[in-house]
Amino acid sequence: MEIAPQEVIAKYESVIGLEVHVQLATRTKIFCGCPTSFGAAPNSNVCPVCCGLPGALPVLSKQAVELAIRGALALNCEIRPLSRFARKNYFYPDSPKGYQISQYDQPFAEWGFLDIAVNGATKRIKVTRVHMEDDAGKSLHEGFRDSAKFTYVDLNRSGTPLIEIVSEPDMRSSDEAFAYLTELKQNVQFVQASTCDMEKGHLRCDANVSVRPWGQTELGTKVEVKNLNSFRFLREAIDYEIARQVAVIEGGGKIHQESRLFNPDTGVTASMRSKEDAHDYRYFPEPDLAPLRIGDAWLAAIKATVPELPGARRLRFVSALGLSEYDAQVLTASRGLADYFEATSKVAGDAKLAANWVMGDLAALLKNAGLEIEASPVSAERLGELVALIVSGELTGKLAKEVLPKMFESGDTAAAVVEREGLKTISDTGELERMIDEVIAGNPKQLEQYRAGKASLIGFFVGQVMKASRGQANPALVNDLVKAKLG
Ligand code: ADP
Ligand code: ZN
Ligand code: MG
Repeated sequence: MEIAPQEVIAKYESVIGLEVHVQLATRTKIFCGCPTSFGAAPNSNVCPVCCGLPGALPVLSKQAVELAIRGALALNCEIRPLSRFARKNYFYPDSPKGYQISQYDQPFAEWGFLDIAVNGATKRIKVTRVHMEDDAGKSLHEGFRDSAKFTYVDLNRSGTPLIEIVSEPDMRSSDEAFAYLTELKQNVQFVQASTCDMEKGHLRCDANVSVRPWGQTELGTKVEVKNLNSFRFLREAIDYEIARQVAVIEGGGKIHQESRLFNPDTGVTASMRSKEDAHDYRYFPEPDLAPLRIGDAWLAAIKATVPELPGARRLRFVSALGLSEYDAQVLTASRGLADYFEATSKVAGDAKLAANWVMGDLAALLKNAGLEIEASPVSAERLGELVALIVSGELTGKLAKEVLPKMFESGDTAAAVVEREGLKTISDTGELERMIDEVIAGNPKQLEQYRAGKASLIGFFVGQVMKASRGQANPALVNDLVKAKLG
């Protein structure tokens, strides 16, 4: 398939809207009590409801609704007091009911947005709607593509609760789509609506892509690239699709509305089927479920437990705590990390220094040990105590670097490690003066040069004293005392 070169692509504006499926972190399925646990033996987590047996009736999970609401609130959506489930009819071997229970004309959430930062500018991407639906099972094809002997159906996933998050066609590049999906994932994770674990398929993305000549107001015909399960593939699929569509149009052809699949091995999208229109699904209100009413009191109770979202938290880290944009970005990558940092900072009494220790030495130790921040053997308070020792001058930063790994291994407090290893900073003037005298006496040549006018040798003497004290001397004090001694 031909794709257009960069200078030809530049004549067109690309338009992107994303449809994102997120698996809610419930213990049980959306319409039955079967567990959602991952990796169970095939068809072991099933019952008549999620197998779609005739006569089995769905019962909506309250936890699923609650997590769906949390997810929608994380996207700044308005929650509808009354919404409806609808049947979306289509046949797949792994969808035993012959239809999906989704929401259609009355989704439970609308009018959301996410602010993304691309190339230093902030841009608001509107979220059209969020609706609830059940997931299908899985088909497993045995053998090679052309000689598959059997297809197995595993219904463990059938009935897993999902929310689908539909954006407006507000994005204009793969970078913006990447930033939007990043922000979406972070926000949904912050409110603990989903783990968004892409490797387990908890976050899946369809990208709708069209192009139009610059200046044209109406949108071009869109193509939907289905089931992108990594951030890298999202970017690659969109960029390929833009270049392909431009080549088709430049060659005098037309874009047809269709669904395509991205092949990560070749980096190319290929046609899957022409896109269904809404009427192909013969949507109608789900007769087995009552309309969903979300009362004010319940909504208020859920809202009260929604934490400060990453964007707001980043702003506060910069404006109130004085962190750089970059540090604020890194430290809000997950709620666990942001909480850890704030707790460290509170005890440490110096946000910038606390940030450096969380992102630097602690992060390195965790990475080495293959641990997440939540499982850190050094709690945020303990790290805060270590940083506080540096702030108060009781421990030099250099020695603190030796103390932290020992805390990490032993689980001891900073004070205990410092005590045990005798690492306390020496601030006793008498003791320091003795060391300085020894250093001066031991370096007559440098002393001579200093006396002859080479003032920069002050640094040399200070360094020697620090070395002699194994880094324990109070550096500021040593500096003053050396200057005074040498006159
Ligand atoms: P459909 O009815 O085909 O599902 P929708 O209007 O519901 O289409 O939009 C589905 C997704 O496609 C949304 O995320 C929307 O922003 C996006 N979209 C709609 N039109 C375009 C377009 N011309 N180019 C790119 N994306 C589009
Ligand atoms: Zn079931
Ligand atoms: Mg649609």
